[in-house]
Amino acid sequence: MIPIVHRNTGWIEVICGSMFSGKSEELIRRLRRAMIARQKVAIFKPKIDNRFSEDHIVSHSELKIPSTNVESPWDILEESLEAQVVGIDEAQFFDKDLVLVCQKLANMGKRVIVAGLDQDYRGEPFEPIPQLLAVAEYIDKTHAICVICGNPANYTQRKTEDKERVVVGASDVYEARCRNCFEPPEEVRKNVKLPRRPEKEEKGDRK
Ligand code: ADP
Ligand code: ZN
Repeated sequence: MIPIVHRNTGWIEVICGSMFSGKSEELIRRLRRAMIARQKVAIFKPKIDNRFSEDHIVSHSELKIPSTNVESPWDILEESLEAQVVGIDEAQFFDKDLVLVCQKLANMGKRVIVAGLDQDYRGEPFEPIPQLLAVAEYIDKTHAICVICGNPANYTQRKTEDKERVVVGASDVYEARCRNCFEPPEEVRKNVKLPRRPEKEEKGDRK
């Protein structure tokens, strides 16, 4: 994937996309390869995401790898001082300090691999992933398959009426959809489907 030889430097890789797009599978694949090569690997996920396991990252296809649950990005920094490779899953559930921590880890010479949702259930950017994309050396966008039409899916459709940004769930709550089949919630639907040039604020401008 990365045909470049790094000398005495760390870097950040981001794997992002919708739910079911294979972010965790890809993260696990990269981390396993590093472990096989006997690199020191530290793996984290936020405490909030204990859907499948307290102490493993588990993909929807049931691949798994041991991980540590942490509350704050600063815990990641403290607990990966010895690591050569740092893996982080479900990164959208961390606050914006995750960007500072990833930068610090990369500046210390570590390979930092981060997986996370880039959009929320409304189709809006899910911080801090956009900020992380800006500073990452490498970015991969993964796609699921739209459950309605079979196109590549870039959106996460929430199947319930909940309005909170974070509702933890799997295929009971979410499904993957493409741009055509994604139905954003009512309050954002107009902006997504029918964008209009905003009205001029001062009517006196027109002469
Ligand atoms: P993510 O971390 O992006 O949510 P995972 O790596 O946990 O994704 O899971 C990917 C797996 O999800 C696929 O290999 C497949 O088994 C399963 N899956 C479920 N629904 C879909 C879908 N609509 N498109 C593709 N894969 C799906
Ligand atoms: Zn579709």
